[in-house]
Amino acid sequence: MKIGILGGGQLGRMFIQNALNYDDEFHVLDPNSDCSCAYISHFSQGNFNNYEDVLAFGQDKDVISIEIEHVNVDALFELEKQGKKVIPNAEIIKTIQQKILQKEFYKKHNIPSPDFEIFDGTSDEIKIKFPFVQKLNTGGYDGKGVQIIKNAEDLKNLWTEDSVLENLVDIDKELSIIIAKNENGETKTFPVTEMVADEKLNLLDFNICPADISSEVQSQIDAIAEKFIKAANSAGLFAIELFLDKNGKVWVNETAPRLHNSGHQTQEGNANSQFEQFYRTLKNLPLADTDAFGFSGMLNLVGEQNYSGKVKYEGLEEVLKLPKTYVHLYGKTETKPGRKMGHINVLANSREELLEKLNYIKTLVRVIS
Ligand code: ADP
Repeated sequence: MKIGILGGGQLGRMFIQNALNYDDEFHVLDPNSDCSCAYISHFSQGNFNNYEDVLAFGQDKDVISIEIEHVNVDALFELEKQGKKVIPNAEIIKTIQQKILQKEFYKKHNIPSPDFEIFDGTSDEIKIKFPFVQKLNTGGYDGKGVQIIKNAEDLKNLWTEDSVLENLVDIDKELSIIIAKNENGETKTFPVTEMVADEKLNLLDFNICPADISSEVQSQIDAIAEKFIKAANSAGLFAIELFLDKNGKVWVNETAPRLHNSGHQTQEGNANSQFEQFYRTLKNLPLADTDAFGFSGMLNLVGEQNYSGKVKYEGLEEVLKLPKTYVHLYGKTETKPGRKMGHINVLANSREELLEKLNYIKTLVRVIS
């Protein structure tokens, strides 16, 4: 089967790495001829935000999917009209691309997400109470396009663009659940993962799986995942990012209609990885079992501040000496501050041991130039 993926970054790369266990052709569309997938796929150079490029790319593929959601969705609608298989479907990608549509979708389907109002960039009648969070309707990524407005004084910093203003949640934990659905309607989730952010970079830093949550919180999350997958009305793999607040209530932050950083530890931590599961959704195969082997975690390798240029991984040999520790690099030659260059997965017998290992590894490695 000819599988076409829009985007040639690390998510596509790890998907292909896993899917080479099977007999398919993997095609990738990306503007960068040196991207993470360039040398391991049938590579087409082109812009996944351009209508013509996406339409042309999709013509001879049996299924078209994404590893980034910021793609030309009009071309995906047209491919669907032509009878092509697009997973996830164009409608849910469009909804997720725009924060306003995404928030309205949660509201319509009774999926708990922080209360919000729509801001058109000019209105001076803001009703939401301080403090609140402004999120740009489009163009936000990895924490950019999100800012906290604490008080009237901060209003001068408001971005004058279409955006969502939402209640600031008093966060206890940030969690994620990955759920997959095939065209037969079968669904399966991965164990809930805790995401720990790097304060400075506003980027995911550690994952810890399974999350340390009560069965009551687990039930709230199961209900959210079930409602979401029903409402999305699409095959595919989705990562639902969640906040657990200090009163024990779970809120949806946002959803990614694709493979996700919060699922990287599934590569060695679970009976099957998110990459395997995604493959199964594209081919409408029976979904894979997702059982965890024990405690697993992940540490992102991100470009250190003040270093740009040809990448060097300091301390990696020390990491390779450690048991049940797995290095994954993304094939990027140039590092930049905050750029995701790779990750390290770790297995452990307890949460304490896992945290100790992750913190130790963090002291060992640096991504520099
Ligand atoms: P991105 O898509 O850029 O990752 P997010 O919407 O996930 O943006 O926001 C980035 C971070 O900002 C979140 O991980 C969380 O820490 C914080 N944040 C976002 N929305 C809220 C909110 N309503 N209340 C409190 N913190 C928030």
